[in-house]
Amino acid sequence: MLKKSNTSGSDSETRSKCLKIRAHHLCCIQGFQGYGYSPVFVANMRAVISDIKAFPSRSLELVSECDVICASCPGKRECTAQESTSSRRIKSMDLVVMEKLKIKEGTVMEADEAFSLVNSQLVNPSDINDVCGTCKWRQKCLWYMQDEE
Ligand code: SF4
Ligand code: SF4
Repeated sequence: MLKKSNTSGSDSETRSKCLKIRAHHLCCIQGFQGYGYSPVFVANMRAVISDIKAFPSRSLELVSECDVICASCPGKRECTAQESTSSRRIKSMDLVVMEKLKIKEGTVMEADEAFSLVNSQLVNPSDINDVCGTCKWRQKCLWYMQDEE
């Protein structure tokens, strides 16, 4: 679970904005330690995480397509190409998470609720491996490494 930051949320419009998030990124967000595909990607990832920490009741739309994190990723083009191997591999990670959480594409829920659901439903090493088995960031990711503790 992400810890709430000390940022005060006075802007109700900001607070109510719905963020589109790939389902498997609910795991990546929790495992992030500052590594990533490029400095721009890392900066954006930090900004997304800070936003969610500041507004844990922020609505998230859970999807299996490019999201606010992908928006700054140098791999976005490949991940967006419908028929690319990367696209299919990454989408399958989202679909595995959705299946395990018993949610559908486009489900909207509060961020806190979404992280609680992930952390209550994806608890076995086999669940974690089903999601992260092919990810190249496994040895840098706190969420994945919980499996190795
Ligand atoms: S190992 Fe990769 S896919 Fe799994 S949570 Fe970490 S960054 Fe995401
Ligand atoms: S590798 Fe693909 S799924 Fe992952 S952040 Fe980049 S564009 Fe998004």
